[in-house]
Amino acid sequence: MSKQSLINEINMRRTFAIISHPDAGKTTITEKVLLHGQKIQKAGTVKGKKSGQHAKSDWMEMEKERGISVTTSVMQFPYRDSLVNLLDTPGHEDFSEDTYRTLTAVDSCLMVIDAAKGVEERTIKLMDVTRLRDTPILTFVNKLDRDIRDPLELLDEVEDVLKIMCAPITWPIGQGKNFKGVYHIARDEIIFYKSGQGHRIQEVDIIKGIDNPELDKRIGGYADELRDEINLVKGASNEFDLELFLAGELTPVFFGTALGNFGVDHMLDGLVEWAPTPMGRNTDKEEFVDAANEKFSGFVFKIQANMDPRHRDRVAFMRIVSGKYEQGMKMKHVRLGKEVRIADALTFVAGDREHVDEAWPGDIIGLHNHGTIQIGDTFTWGDEFKFTGIPNFAPELFRRIRLKDPLKQKQLLKGLVQLSEEGAVQVFRPLASNDLIVGAVGMLQFDVVVHRLRAEYKVEAIYENIQVATARWVYCDDAKKFEEFQRKAQHNLSIDGGNALAYIAPTMANLSLTQERFPEITFTHTKEV
Ligand code: GDP
Repeated sequence: MSKQSLINEINMRRTFAIISHPDAGKTTITEKVLLHGQKIQKAGTVKGKKSGQHAKSDWMEMEKERGISVTTSVMQFPYRDSLVNLLDTPGHEDFSEDTYRTLTAVDSCLMVIDAAKGVEERTIKLMDVTRLRDTPILTFVNKLDRDIRDPLELLDEVEDVLKIMCAPITWPIGQGKNFKGVYHIARDEIIFYKSGQGHRIQEVDIIKGIDNPELDKRIGGYADELRDEINLVKGASNEFDLELFLAGELTPVFFGTALGNFGVDHMLDGLVEWAPTPMGRNTDKEEFVDAANEKFSGFVFKIQANMDPRHRDRVAFMRIVSGKYEQGMKMKHVRLGKEVRIADALTFVAGDREHVDEAWPGDIIGLHNHGTIQIGDTFTWGDEFKFTGIPNFAPELFRRIRLKDPLKQKQLLKGLVQLSEEGAVQVFRPLASNDLIVGAVGMLQFDVVVHRLRAEYKVEAIYENIQVATARWVYCDDAKKFEEFQRKAQHNLSIDGGNALAYIAPTMANLSLTQERFPEITFTHTKEV
């Protein structure tokens, strides 16, 4: 591999994820994006797809019963001269921890806003996560074919609530039944919308120039109104600024309807033009690994079980940070200090498994995992370092877990530790008792855990309520003070699945009091994996 070919591959790539509140249209946009990527001929197959291999999995059965999607897939598709990786994130809030970690593996995000609803609660949370790395954000305001709120007011809300400047790239003409299309401010073009064309790529119907008399012929008196409105919008909003966008401080905004497949291509044009190419990552050695470094490196941000029920295997999703992956290559599993040969990495094209012979920075590959890979693991060409910034979040829900058959305690512990390693749940072992406490970010995780313990570890477990309000990981540089704290607070301390010490607070008041009593101790809400 020459340095130039590495740089060419990097420059072609964009790796992004979609963040939104449930129902804003993430799935629909994903379908249309793939349609534009020409991966699927007819959009509409992402959600409804009854894939044989998935249908058999009982875990997936459960997912189907609940009508939610817990799978994360990675889709690669060509768009114009670029190759785009779209990392799908589970939409249901119960799996937000997975979603958060997926955001560490992308270089930009598309935020989808429902134009009738504006900024919603989960979008706020997800935007907070993207801020941890100042990820550049593109915005798509969706459902213009419905009655929506005033677009200027929507942008104000985004700016106020999400603290990010908005730069409209397109501007809607009408809405609901009267939605006529958009004015592309940057290109000075009016692009017309035709309803009922959602399942295919539409022929573009364009008038060049807002002062073009053709526009008056086409939309009559509304043309002058539009000209006035655009003047107003230009005066009232920010111009696009690439530097501010790359710093995560300004978002280009596109309007359209995902269902009508209108406007998604404008957003994709913006993505390939402005979004950053695959970026390097920080390490614990305080050195930054650049994507154009010829030495291979990557990190695991997600582990998914049961993708193929016949094998009961688990797949580790790795984001390549630098260098080139080639089938059969050796890499160093840094945590284990071992060299491993990777013969069968996978890529996931619209949910299907395909073998890949090579992959480049920004790409995601799936590694078969028989229990040796954990979330946060770093793989390198041979160097000793660990990528940082892959978080665990303090759980908000807790249950004591107990066996129906007490003789299987060892199996239970093994299962829980493995499930915690893949991020399905968090497990805490109190220092002062033999209890096992399961902590989750969402309720559904509890059901998944019992289900999987039964199916994969052959243990029947049940939950009991427990008085726990929250957990915090605890640290202290001063060994003596830390020891004293551990002695005094022993009854509330637990070891988590990764052997880190956590303070389990029965109430929020107890947590504040303890923090006041031990000011030298750091209590954290997130833990680096
Ligand atoms: P997700 O939960 O964010 O993945 O949202 P979906 O893509 O599943 O969309 C939620 C609902 O909104 C579905 O019924 C979609 O058909 C509908 N929807 C999505 N985009 C549009 C749009 O542009 N216009 C209208 N009218 N409905 C839409």
